Amino acid sequence: AAGRRPLFAGNWKMHTLPAEAARLAAAVREGLEGPAGPVPAGAAEVVLCPPFTSLATAAEALAGSGIALGAQDVAWGDFGAFTGEVSAPMLRALGCRYVIVGHSERRRLLGEDDALVQRKLLAALAGGLVPILCVGEDAAQRQEGRTAAVVLGQAAYALAGLEPEEAARVVIAYEPVWAIGSGQPATPADAQAVAAAIRRLVERLHGPATAAAVRILYGGSVKPDNIGGFMAQPDIDGALVGGASLDGTAFARLVREG
Ligand code: PEP
Repeated sequence: AAGRRPLFAGNWKMHTLPAEAARLAAAVREGLEGPAGPVPAGAAEVVLCPPFTSLATAAEALAGSGIALGAQDVAWGDFGAFTGEVSAPMLRALGCRYVIVGHSERRRLLGEDDALVQRKLLAALAGGLVPILCVGEDAAQRQEGRTAAVVLGQAAYALAGLEPEEAARVVIAYEPVWAIGSGQPATPADAQAVAAAIRRLVERLHGPATAAAVRILYGGSVKPDNIGGFMAQPDIDGALVGGASLDGTAFARLVREG
């Protein structure tokens, strides 16, 4: 909305072997470039985020297309004694332009706290990647009326120390934890209210120009038949999509419907 280029990102999570990833990426490409006609250039940005081990084959399948590649996580250092980690320069060398940071599954299941998420965000920006910063409340926090406090707390922790130009490059994904993979999305009105609160926070931290530029996505059980309601909201600029991004045809349709 408001001059911001919509962005649709597919989070494949821990799915696809390398050959499967190439097929899925090709199916998305076919769905966007194929018989239904190309999605108008400049209309929307599309990003696919395979697991690390499928980045290379997905990159090959996407070569020469307008579809970008992203990773699902990034280390907070560049190189060094960090067994098992994968850094921003490594991801860039594989063709990544984006990286998801602070997904709720990593926060919940892998112990990532706000401090670690902030370090990863800084590493992504320093390494020339566009971070997709995930924030969101869980069901109990929502029931206790703490949605805004939790979401804005996570966002403020990650964004406060940035320069305005850096903050403007960050994509923020509002993903209520209870809506992820549950088939029960937030209502577009509820998602809009949180997105607007996030934009006001960015304005307080980094000024009106940054707030107007920053892209805010909604994520949580987004499908081709409900994306329209979210995209009609003034502060929602796209979607982070899990389950529905594993079907290339459905994901391409979702981008078209958005
Ligand atoms: C996600 O994990 O980021 C997500 C939004 O998943 P789903 O679309 O499956 O709810």
